[in-house]
Amino acid sequence: MGKNDQNILIKLSQDTNIEKFKIEKCFKYFLIDLNDTKFSNNYYLLKDIVCSYYGILDSYIREDDSRIELDNEIKRYDEIYIDTAPIIHEDWFLFFIASVIPHLRRRRKKLVVLEKTMEEMYGLSHNEEKDDDVRLRARIRPYLLDHLAKKGLLRKVDTGSKGIADDHLVNIFKKRGKTKNILLITQDRYLSERVVQLGENLNKNIEIPNHSLFDRFVHWKFIDEDIVKKVVVCELLKNGDLLRLYICQHCGDSYYDKLFDCGGFVLCSSCYYELEEKKQKYKEKKEIQEKRRLKELKEIEEKRDLEKNINTVASVIKKKQRRLLFTVIILLLLTISFIFFII
Ligand SMILES: [Zn+2]
Repeated sequence: MGKNDQNILIKLSQDTNIEKFKIEKCFKYFLIDLNDTKFSNNYYLLKDIVCSYYGILDSYIREDDSRIELDNEIKRYDEIYIDTAPIIHEDWFLFFIASVIPHLRRRRKKLVVLEKTMEEMYGLSHNEEKDDDVRLRARIRPYLLDHLAKKGLLRKVDTGSKGIADDHLVNIFKKRGKTKNILLITQDRYLSERVVQLGENLNKNIEIPNHSLFDRFVHWKFIDEDIVKKVVVCELLKNGDLLRLYICQHCGDSYYDKLFDCGGFVLCSSCYYELEEKKQKYKEKKEIQEKRRLKELKEIEEKRDLEKNINTVASVIKKKQRRLLFTVIILLLLTISFIFFII
């Protein structure tokens, strides 16, 4: 074994806290030759293999606030299902598991992986068309999953071998989504959209339990969380972060955003701004119409007032004319009677 190989083994041992002889044993078992540049130039893959094989993920624990964020994000889910692709996509799954383990322990929850997913991984590990690192990860991950299962942090569910894992997951969520909050982690957009739609349909038909006044009084903080069951889908990202898939109810497109506590059908930002703009324009149009209407009303009012005034003036003149005529007639009668009197 060359000096370079020894250096890699020493560095791996220091980084992972796994003894050097154990690392050598693991590499021997998986026929990993450190003289081969495809391995010696891919330190992260080597680290991934050793850590997965022994189930020791201390070197993947993040020191930032992401663990607290993750706890807040996943605490409401009763079951967390993981699809095949996120498990073998680079070392992202290892970061996720390292962050999620304390929360699973504390909240006594388990990750769920289908036996069908295990089968798919087995198929990938023997698929000559796949890249070497994908095949290796597909081969090594079952060891990690077994370690998690032994620790009581993971449950494997057997749903039979027929069809593809997507259909098995959808069928499980149809039943369990009625009573449980479920989180699915998958890189498959089509499956994500299917499951978000399913979650929306389940939420519409949800039966809200009748909590007594006493329950509401005692658990007033938890009552809403308690009754709103959701099926939520996330994509796994680099460093084990999660992004949730939403579907825009306006344009129907799906998109990824942070894991907010809401339904899966949320307007996308472009539709939101487009609709806001339309709403603003409609409001402005209505305001202009209202101003015009008020102006017209005022004009009608003024016209009516003017006509009223004109009428008033005309009637006064008429009255005065009548009075004048009466006075003239009286005067005329008086003059005539006076003339008669003189004669
Ligand atoms: Zn949209």
